[in-house]
Amino acid sequence: MKKILILGATGSVGTQALRVIEKAKDLSVEALVAHKNVDLLRRQVAQTGVQKVGIYDGDAAKKFESFGLPCKVYQGEEGVMALIEESQAQMVLSAIVGIAGLKPTMKAIDEGKNIAFANKETLVTAGDLVMAKVKEKNTLFLPVDSEHAAIHQCLCHEPQVGIQKLMLTASGGPFRTRALDSFSAITREDALRHPTWSMGEKISIDSATMMNKALEVIEAHYLFDTPYEKIEALIHPQSVVHSMVAFKDGNILAQMGHTTMEIPIGYALHYPDRADLGLSEFDFSKQTLSFEPLDEKRYPLYGLGRQAALLGTGACVTLNAANEAAVDLFLRGRIGFLEIMRNVEKALGKFSRSVSSLSEILALDQEVKAYVYAG
Ligand code: MG
Repeated sequence: MKKILILGATGSVGTQALRVIEKAKDLSVEALVAHKNVDLLRRQVAQTGVQKVGIYDGDAAKKFESFGLPCKVYQGEEGVMALIEESQAQMVLSAIVGIAGLKPTMKAIDEGKNIAFANKETLVTAGDLVMAKVKEKNTLFLPVDSEHAAIHQCLCHEPQVGIQKLMLTASGGPFRTRALDSFSAITREDALRHPTWSMGEKISIDSATMMNKALEVIEAHYLFDTPYEKIEALIHPQSVVHSMVAFKDGNILAQMGHTTMEIPIGYALHYPDRADLGLSEFDFSKQTLSFEPLDEKRYPLYGLGRQAALLGTGACVTLNAANEAAVDLFLRGRIGFLEIMRNVEKALGKFSRSVSSLSEILALDQEVKAYVYAG
């Protein structure tokens, strides 16, 4: 029985992971960690029977304790760190949104846990540190992001030297065909309406701006130790091909399937086994697949993200922090859609210092966010 600790249990990936685990005979949940959605957490505890939960928000933790469940509560960041330290789980699913996932993920690697990671911000902001730690501790570090799970399968221990290109596919999001002169009128609801994937709010906005693909390029760079010039993205509106790898000898491998996050989640949680997730058969006779180039005029944040990637860790941290803050402001109705880009651009112009340690990374993140929130 493989025991799993879930960081970010009440989010989109966390709830889908619980469905995958429920269907599996050989997986069980050891502990659940949430930010503050304790009503959902209470139902998850009842459903899984876990006896340990971590809750970041203090008020939410008090509310949860008032439910009187036979469950030990680990409160705040310190509590979550203690929970990870005590954990007997073989695997940690890292599915907290944003850079908030970095410290607990690093802690879990430190404790020698295998990681299934859905938190791309961890690699974007601290790719060098994280991958060095993974190597040092000799743990598994498996992507839950659908594109990277695809590439992970296409690569399957292929030596780096044979790779010509990693090709990340992108659906194009909800605004692939929208008139460019109407972008300023985009609402929160428009931007959250992703055409093919069901995901959390932050990543849905990132998919609409295509920042998500820039973050994924950076994620792929660290995860597969591949230089940026060998990583490209292209639009594939049907989201059937989840990504591809082209090899030097002209062979191209693609991974395909339904657009449900249960597939990459199941791949990572069961790795190296393949489990029956009870999905319907995929009917290719009903599919027409198309591809088109990614237009950087339509998606300027993609280009901006790639530029930041080439500048190094400091710029990646700035990019990510400014984007997290700007997306939060957009989701709360405080700024318009196009201002997400302007905020990120402005922050990249303002902050140019290089960072390397975890504390430097977290300090820069806080500074950039304060700058964006101050307007
Ligand atoms: Mg993805």
